[in-house]
Formats: sequence, structure tokens, C-alpha cells
Amino acid sequence: MMEKDAKIYVAGHRGMVGSAIVRKLEAAGYHNLVLRSSKELDLRRQAETEAFFAAEKPEYVFLAAAKVGGILGNAGQPADFLYDNMILEMNAIRAAWQNGVKKLMFLGSSCIYPRMAPQPMPENCLLTGALEQTNEGYALAKISGLKYCEYLDRQYGADYISVMPTNLYGKNDNYHPRHSHVLPAFIRRFHEAKENGDKKVVCWGTGSPMREFLYVDDLADACVFLMNTYSGTETVNVGTGKELSIRALAELVAKVVGYEGEIEWDATKPDGTPRKLLDVSKLQKLGWTYKTELEDGIRMTYADFLHNPMRAER
Ligand code: GDP
Repeated sequence: MMEKDAKIYVAGHRGMVGSAIVRKLEAAGYHNLVLRSSKELDLRRQAETEAFFAAEKPEYVFLAAAKVGGILGNAGQPADFLYDNMILEMNAIRAAWQNGVKKLMFLGSSCIYPRMAPQPMPENCLLTGALEQTNEGYALAKISGLKYCEYLDRQYGADYISVMPTNLYGKNDNYHPRHSHVLPAFIRRFHEAKENGDKKVVCWGTGSPMREFLYVDDLADACVFLMNTYSGTETVNVGTGKELSIRALAELVAKVVGYEGEIEWDATKPDGTPRKLLDVSKLQKLGWTYKTELEDGIRMTYADFLHNPMRAER
């Protein structure tokens, strides 16, 4: 259990996940947080990273810093997604261990599981088959980070754990027209179409892939819960256990935003993996379930989008 005055480093606190973890920690009364923007501390630089950990000596670390992107960003820049994430994770986890961090949580992604994994995907299907091509570089980096935590635990008894969230959305998401994930992309596109009075919106792929979505504040709640209650070498899936088609998601976002025109599908864009539903029974047995239903979460996210003037630049 983290003490309320424990020194906690949240890496990636400007991002969607890191900022949600900070909100959750502060609301729970944790007041000794260490935060650095990527400009202040570039975790890809080993010497900088080591100097930071040696000077600050945090007791707990949430490693939510990562280079992330949607299907086109990932598919187009596999070298950058592999390199940036791999080097950042290795530097941060090693420097944490060398500087006496008591417990670290590594955040990954459900794309670490094989493309053709059984659905819903249990934690133990890791490394049982080939990965989805569109995000293989990112997935390989995340698998390595997860394994590094597992090996530190096995070799040295380090209490370093990992969690694998499903597709996330919420406050502080990235709304870039090409590089964002599907949910923020839809919010922006349908909103702009409504504003411009467009009669047609074009979405990518066929609309048939199935995806699961978790509101990022629910993830943050699960992260703090697991940091305080879970130890073990096996990762923990974090999701809702519910899925819907991308087509159904488009209709839901259109409804929330108030767009009433047509939706067209551009099948020259990739679909990605056909299904990606997490088996969340382990997390449920540990005593946690999600709280925010998708439509409610989309409503809150849309409200945040409307009040976030920086949305287009991120
Ligand atoms: P994925 O879960 O790793 O595939 O990541 P994404 O969130 O980027 O994409 C999920 C699904 O939504 C894929 O099948 C995409 O082809 C589809 N999709 C439809 N329109 C869009 C869009 O405008 N942006 C993104 N990122 N995906 C879209």
C-alpha cells in the first residue's frame, strides 16, 4: 500500500493516461508527486534518466510515458515506435531498479497479444502466435517492457508489475486527424461535419472490426487499485469485457455529437486486427470492474473536446 506522503513519479503526466493517473492520485490524497515533461526529462537519454532517478529517488513509479498513435501512425513508422518505446522503457525501468524504487507499474497495451488470439484474450495467450502487422513495432516494445519487469521480479524479487489496458479514450486525448486513435478521430470528424453542415463523413476501413473501449479515468482507478493491492509476475488486463463494431462506434459518436448525415467507409485504409477483446476475469477476481459506460464516457469526452482549445494541435 502506498503511503499518502510517498514520493511517486508519474512518467508521461502530460499524456492521456499519465494525466488521468495524476488526477486519481491527487483525488485520493497523494500529494508528493514528481512530474517531468518530456522536454524537461527525455527518458530516451540514459544518462539523463539515471541522473533524474539518482537525484529524486522516487519510491513508486507509474510508467505511462510512451510514443503512441493510431493505426496509420503505427503502421507508417514501425521503426520509431519500436525504438522510442523500447529505449524509454529500458532506461526508465533499469534506472528505477538501480535507485531503489520499491514498486513500479508498467503500462502496455492489448496489442501485445497475438492477432489470432482466442477471444476474449487471457493474459496467458501472450507469445502464443504472430502479432498484428499494423502495430508490431509498438507491441514488441511493450512486450519487452513487460518481460523486463517480469524478469526483474524473477531474478531479483523486484515488485515491478505490468498492466495491459484495452483501447482507451477520455480527457487529454490526441485529436490529430491522421495520427489519432479511432474514438478521438470520430469525435473530431463528426463534430466538424456537423459544424460545416456536411452531408457525408468518411471513416477508415470496412467498419467491421470489433473493439473494446475503456474510459481513461477508469483505467487510472484500476492502476492505483492494482499498485496498492497486486504483486505478481503475470500482467493484468484492464478493460470492460465488452466490445462493439467500429461501425456501431461511428453511429454512437454521431449520435452523441449530433451529426445526422451519412457515414461512408474507405476500405483502402487498413482494418487492423479483426477483434481485440480482453479477458478481464483476473482483474474482476482481484476486485475491480469498470464504472463508465461507453456512451457516458463519449459524452464526457466530447464535452472536454469542446472546452479544449489545444485539441487540434496535439
Ligand atoms: P487499433 O485498435 O490499433 O486498430 O487502432 P485505431 O484506434 O487506430 O483503429 C481502430 C479501428 O478503427 C481500425 O479498424 C481503423 O481502421 C478504424 N478507423 C476508422 N476510422 C478511423 C480513423 O479515422 N482513425 C483511426 N485511427 N482509425 C479509424
